[in-house]
Amino acid sequence: MVGHPERQSHRRISPLDPGASRTSPGAPGPPPEPPAAPSPGPPGTRAEQEARGTPGEGPTPPSHLQLEVTSACNLRCRMCLVRYRPPVNRIRGAMPLELFHRLLDALPGLRLLTLQGLGEPLLSPHLLPMIAEAKRRGVRTGFTTNATLLTPERSARLVELGVDWVRVSLDGATAETYEGIRDGGSFAAVAANIRSLWAAKKAAGSPLPWTRVVFVAMRRNMEELADTVRLLAGWGVDEIRVQNLAHTFEDAGGAYAGIRDFTEAESLWRGGDRIRSARAFAEAAAVAEEYGVRLRLPDLSGRRSPRAPGEPGCGWPWDAVYVTSEGVVQPCCMVMGDDRATLGDLRSQSFAEIWEGAAYREFRRRLMGDDPPEVCRGCALYRGTF
Ligand code: SF4
Repeated sequence: MVGHPERQSHRRISPLDPGASRTSPGAPGPPPEPPAAPSPGPPGTRAEQEARGTPGEGPTPPSHLQLEVTSACNLRCRMCLVRYRPPVNRIRGAMPLELFHRLLDALPGLRLLTLQGLGEPLLSPHLLPMIAEAKRRGVRTGFTTNATLLTPERSARLVELGVDWVRVSLDGATAETYEGIRDGGSFAAVAANIRSLWAAKKAAGSPLPWTRVVFVAMRRNMEELADTVRLLAGWGVDEIRVQNLAHTFEDAGGAYAGIRDFTEAESLWRGGDRIRSARAFAEAAAVAEEYGVRLRLPDLSGRRSPRAPGEPGCGWPWDAVYVTSEGVVQPCCMVMGDDRATLGDLRSQSFAEIWEGAAYREFRRRLMGDDPPEVCRGCALYRGTF
C-alpha cells in the first residue's frame, strides 16, 4: 500500500510493488523478497489482453498468493480490524493444512507466498510446516509479524527453514507510543526479538530472512520516525518501510465505524498533516542516509497518478489473490474484512471456478473503468497514498 517526483505517471500499481515510494540510498543490495515488478506476462494493456481472451475466461492464474494463516491475534492494534470484532480462538482461527495444500496444488505457477492476514502468523500451529512446504516447492515465502512471539528459538528455526523475508510491525521509538498503538504489545520484548532474529542470522551466516520493519505513519507517531530509524540501524534490520493507513473505510457500514473514526483522526493525507509529515520524513531520510539504512517513504503529495488508458487502478485482481483462514477469496489484502468484496468460497468452489467466475470478472471490469468497486475508492493503493 506503498508519486512522487520519481514516480512515473500512468504507472500501474502492483501488489508485488505496492505503489511508488521514495527510497533513501541506504544499504546496498537488492532485497531477496517480493520482486520489484510483476512478471511481464502477455504483451499489451490489460484491456487488450482481455479482449484477446475467450469471453468468460479469467487471466493467467496468479503467481502471488497471500494467505491469512490465522485470524487469531494476541494484540489489538488500533488501526486493525481485529480490534473492532470479537476475539478468535487460536486453534479455530488457523487455516487448515488441507486448504493450504489444495491451494498450492491449484497454483503450480506460484512464485511468491505471503503468509499473513488479519491475525498474527506465529499463533498458527501450521506456520512452520507451511513455510517448509513452500520452500520444498521452490516458492519464495515470508510473513509479517508483530514479533511479540518471535522468540530466539523461533528465529533460529526460521533461519534454518530459509524463510525468505520477515516483516516486523513497529511504529514508534518509545514504549509509550508503540504500546499506545499496538495494544497488548511490549516495546522491550519486540526490541529484544528483532535483535535476536539478527543474532540468529549472524550465527547461521545467513542473509535470510530479509528483515523489514514496517512503520505505519500516523499523526500520533510521525515525529518519532527519525528516532525509530536511529534505533533500528543498530538492530540489524535490512529495510524500514513507512506506510500510510491502508484504507479510509468510507464505503463500509456500521460494524466498521471504530476503525473508520480512527483512520479519520490519524491519517496524514490532508493539508497541514502533509507539511508536518514532509518535515518528519525528510529528517528520517537524513538519519537513514547517515546510518546507511534502506528507508522507503510513502507519497503524501496528494498527486495521484492518473490511471492509464486500458489499465486498472491496481494490479491485484490479475497478479495476486488473497484467501482468508476459512477459505473466502478476496481481491487483495487491503480490503480487511471477509464480509467485504467476497469473490468466492473455497469450501464450496474450486480455485479455478472462482478465479474465472462472474464475481471476479465483474470486479476486474469495474477496476478497469471509471466506476471502480466501492471498496477500492477508499483504498490507499488506489488513491496512490500508501
Ligand atoms: S481495494 Fe481495490 S484498489 Fe485496493 S488493492 Fe484491493 S483491489 Fe486494488
